Parts: sequence; C-alpha cells; structure tokens
Amino acid sequence: MLQYRLVPVTAYQQNCSIIWCDSTFDAAIIDPGGDVDQLQEEIAALSDELGVKVTKILLTHGHMDHVGGTSALKAALGLPVIGPHKDDNFWIEALDMQAQMMNFTPVEGFQPDRWLEHQDRVEVGELSLQVLHCPGHTPGHVVFYQAESKLAFVGDVLFSGSIGRTDFPRGDHQQLLASIKTRLWPLGDDITFIPGHGPLSTFGQERRTNPYVADHRFG
Ligand SMILES: [Zn+2]
Ligand SMILES: [Zn+2]
Repeated sequence: MLQYRLVPVTAYQQNCSIIWCDSTFDAAIIDPGGDVDQLQEEIAALSDELGVKVTKILLTHGHMDHVGGTSALKAALGLPVIGPHKDDNFWIEALDMQAQMMNFTPVEGFQPDRWLEHQDRVEVGELSLQVLHCPGHTPGHVVFYQAESKLAFVGDVLFSGSIGRTDFPRGDHQQLLASIKTRLWPLGDDITFIPGHGPLSTFGQERRTNPYVADHRFG
C-alpha cells in the first residue's frame, strides 16, 4: 500500500507529498515546490526511521509553487524528474517570469527526464500510479492515482470546496470542469484526494457539496 507524508512548502503552503511503497520502501516526492532544506530533512528522517529511499521526483504541473525545488533536489539527490505533460513546458521554461510574478527567489531551470501522457503508469516500488491528464488549470496538468490505496494526488485541479484557477495563460474553465467530471469522478466517490493546497477530501464529498462541481451544478 501507499504511505505518505505531507510537507506544506513555500508561502503558498503547497502540499508537497513524499509517498512510499510500504513493502519495498521505494519513495517518490510529488511537487517539491520549494523549502528544499526542509524537504531534505524530511527525506533524511524517513530514511532513518523507516529506510525510505526516494528514487524520483513527480510533477503535477509547471507552476512555481509546485516545481520550484525541483532543480535543487535533483542536483542534491540525483533524482530523475517525471512529468508533467509536455503541454506545461511553456510554464517550466518561464520559471524566471514565474519567480518574479509570485515573489520567489529565482531558481535554476530544469528539463523533465520524462513527459507523461494520459494513462501512463509510474511505478514506485510495487505501487503503480495511473497518470490522468487533467487540463484546465494548466494545459499539461496531470493527476497521479493509486487505485489499491484509493488515493489521488490532484495538484491544483480540485480542492476541498473549490477548483483550480483558470485565469492564467492557457487556462480553460470549461476544460477544467470536463477534466474533473470525466477523469476524476469515474474513479469513485470513495477516493480520497490530496490537493495542492488545503485539506484533504473525497470525490464523493465534492460531488455533494463543492459549489463549482457538485452534481446538481452539471444539470
Ligand atoms: Zn497551479
Ligand atoms: Zn498551486
């Protein structure tokens, strides 16, 4: 099964997740947005406590608060960078502009070692994560879904009680609604999701109560 530890990073309190397979203790870090020293301390603590070994960096999308620590962590730990979908390359190539806009210290650029496509799989130990391309907040946003653990790491697609912003370049509100309805809801009401910001929830809870995407809103 999948185990995880959340580490909120940056001024945006982005939910960076360290996930691991509890039979092999292979691990991945999803969306290392910044605060790399703190992330390295967590990684070292998990290694000491449990023998967890981080082997890859996974990215949901190219926004600074999700990828800002990638190049530093990749350099420090020698990890491959996997994701997001290549349609987010324009965001990754614009890290300097993003740093300025979001008031981040500028960081080194990077190139993902592997772009992801809809329905790709990423292995972490014995865990298989399914990749769902969910454009709308950004065109290349992906979600990582682990079926046996009933968990989804959804980045800025969906939040408890809200959805991702679509007022950025190449954001698309209708596309975001379609991604949520056609790619997330079919996974099941009992799936718990870890959003990029704020508390966890389930798809069922959002289908009942989320003012943007509750079932009655879709008519
Ligand atoms: Zn974002
Ligand atoms: Zn975010």
